[in-house]
Amino acid sequence: MSRPLILALTKGRILKETLPLLAEAGIEPLDDIKTSRKLVFATSRDDVRLVILRGTDVPTYVRHGAADVGVVGKDILLEQGADGLYEPLDLGIARCRLMTAAPVGWEPGQGRIRVATKFVNVARAYFASRGMQVELIKLYGAMELAPIMDLADVIVDIVDTGNTLKANGLEPLQEIAQVSSRLVVNKASMRAHCDAVTDLTDALARAVAEGASDAAA
Ligand code: AMP
Repeated sequence: MSRPLILALTKGRILKETLPLLAEAGIEPLDDIKTSRKLVFATSRDDVRLVILRGTDVPTYVRHGAADVGVVGKDILLEQGADGLYEPLDLGIARCRLMTAAPVGWEPGQGRIRVATKFVNVARAYFASRGMQVELIKLYGAMELAPIMDLADVIVDIVDTGNTLKANGLEPLQEIAQVSSRLVVNKASMRAHCDAVTDLTDALARAVAEGASDAAA
């Protein structure tokens, strides 16, 4: 048998929402993946193994072929670019929006706007497309704190319910992109494991469609 297909996932919301889709596709981890500290998991299928990574590392593993397939948020793909990856399926899970946000009532002044974000590439492209030159400040977390501490005027961040913004005196302004998790595939794996990757993609697509029709019923 050729080596198992390696599928890269991230802990948290993506894992929680991907596991039922994988179960529908006949793939179930043999250990309790949500609580275990292991990073590699055998599954009910000999030919599929799961690895747990940070979201920002999923495209890197898949791009280099260390994982064949991954599940990753569109926000990360927009920020990092999708070179070397196919993106065959929108799983429709972990939905949120990439937005600009600022303190309630904030209005732009004369000078350059200071924008704090971990999505510097997305933010740069977004403000450039609007003809705005901004000062970008790269952060790795807690973007909401930047306007409070007068590090920045505006943030670019992920918004789901908007509660985090509200709790910090911020309001959402413009939507930059809608985000959901995508299946990504290494281009060489797509050729080398074409049948396995196609079977997995088709099975997940059916699970997504069934989930969507269940939700509509
Ligand atoms: P909320 O307060 O519901 O608007 O959630 C906002 C925070 O939750 C963001 O700052 C993100 O860190 C995180 N978050 C919510 N949804 C997602 C998602 N789908 N993917 C990644 N992070 C998320």
